[in-house]
Amino acid sequence: MRADRATISSNAERRRIRFVNIVRTILGDIPREQFGVCYAHEHIIIDNNVATMRFPDFKLPSVANGIAELTQFYADGGRAMVDSMPCDSGRNVLKLADISEATKVHILCPTGLHLGKYYDDGHWSHHYSVDRLAELFIADIEVGIDRFDYSGPCVDRTSHRAGLIKIASGGVEITERNRRIFEAASIAHTQTGAPILTHVEEGRGAMEQVALLSSHGVDLSKVVLSHTDRQPDIEYHRDILQSGVRVEYDSGFRWKTTTNPTLDLVMELIGDFPNQIMLGMDAARSSYWKSYGGAPGLSFLLNEFSQMMQERGLNEKQWNNIFVTTPADTYTFKTT
Ligand SMILES: [Zn+2]
Repeated sequence: MRADRATISSNAERRRIRFVNIVRTILGDIPREQFGVCYAHEHIIIDNNVATMRFPDFKLPSVANGIAELTQFYADGGRAMVDSMPCDSGRNVLKLADISEATKVHILCPTGLHLGKYYDDGHWSHHYSVDRLAELFIADIEVGIDRFDYSGPCVDRTSHRAGLIKIASGGVEITERNRRIFEAASIAHTQTGAPILTHVEEGRGAMEQVALLSSHGVDLSKVVLSHTDRQPDIEYHRDILQSGVRVEYDSGFRWKTTTNPTLDLVMELIGDFPNQIMLGMDAARSSYWKSYGGAPGLSFLLNEFSQMMQERGLNEKQWNNIFVTTPADTYTFKTT
């Protein structure tokens, strides 16, 4: 099964031309103009993983609840969501496809790997080589995601392909495991044109991720750093954005303070960096979903938070940049 690097490379060369200006949803490639109002980092389905065993609230197993929540999201004007569960961490591409078909919401499903804490100690992600990891990521993007989610040993590829690569680091220091995964993601990005979405633990370590991806030749305009608003230091954010990466803020509904630092960041930065800021819910707990009986529900950004931004002076073009133009620019496959 092991294709050599040259074969992967020449296939990617041929295919790259077709990737220009398309977004790879789980139901097929669509032109960027059809992508529409997008949440840039979501969790629509989370099946069992090591973390859900300890924290059952992290589990989002229900297709019916996914359909109910995304039907409301669509009614409120939402059209696309980027799911963020990578290989063997509770990802379930068949459930995502059912939800997308039922609701008409475009869903991107990632390949890639999460932090080590989402896997048991013997998991392959802890010891596979860079090249082997890159092969797995590329096959998810170019051929189709395994219906068994790389839980092994059999692989049975579905027709649903990955539309991005999700990777993670656990703070300022990037471990040897995560460095290997970042390098493999960089290879898969270079060879397929797929964008990269990163988890920035508690918002810390963004510049270290930027430096590492940049050292591997990744196009930083195709990189989205998530959760950096957990560290609402304006100068830190200016440094991040000046590197050319995109950011995804998702703590707008989490602050228990009287002020909303996520809202402050958006309003302070959107003028200088109009094409680099996106929003998401990252609502990876059933207690955040209305369909599971929780709050505030996934329409929060389109309703309450949009109203809060507009009251602070966000204009229509800026709103459109956050929810439509920047996601479409970023999540299209890289042009040659
Ligand atoms: Zn997440």
